[in-house]
Amino acid sequence: MHFDPTTPCAICRRSIGTDEDNILAFESLEVSVADFEVFRNGVAHVHCLSAWPRRDEFIEVWNDALGEHFTGKELYLDDAGRVNYTDSNNWLMNDSPAAQRRREEAQRAFQAQREARRQKLERSLDAARQKAISFGLAGSADVDQMIYNMSAEEFRKHFGEFQVSRAFFRSDK
Ligand SMILES: [Zn+2]
Repeated sequence: MHFDPTTPCAICRRSIGTDEDNILAFESLEVSVADFEVFRNGVAHVHCLSAWPRRDEFIEVWNDALGEHFTGKELYLDDAGRVNYTDSNNWLMNDSPAAQRRREEAQRAFQAQREARRQKLERSLDAARQKAISFGLAGSADVDQMIYNMSAEEFRKHFGEFQVSRAFFRSDK
């Protein structure tokens, strides 16, 4: 942490000083309680916050605001009664709403493409089956097995136009 040691504590308004064990820093978060806006982008002494009458209310409000941006980063009261942050090794930055939207859109586009490919494949397989049936090579019940059991050469000759792999006709796939 690098602060100007003269930055005032959000609670006692005295200089924050240089004792890092006694300093908590706060992001510039939107908070729902106007009284707590003084913490935005600010600092507080751990001992001031820990003894503050509004401590628990503040922790709840601030954690709500933190939750918009982080997973795993929270203020909590440790066993010694000091307000502290959870272990920074567990902090994960959440995506911004815009980044989340972009990811969801990309995911939807990807699924739509995959679904289109699947439908195209199904149409090709059906066309091949119809051809096999109309040529009297098989009935509808055994058409997949018949096609799958063809030699590669025969398959290419009769069904190459559909550009599907013979393996798709394997009945136990
Ligand atoms: Zn203070």
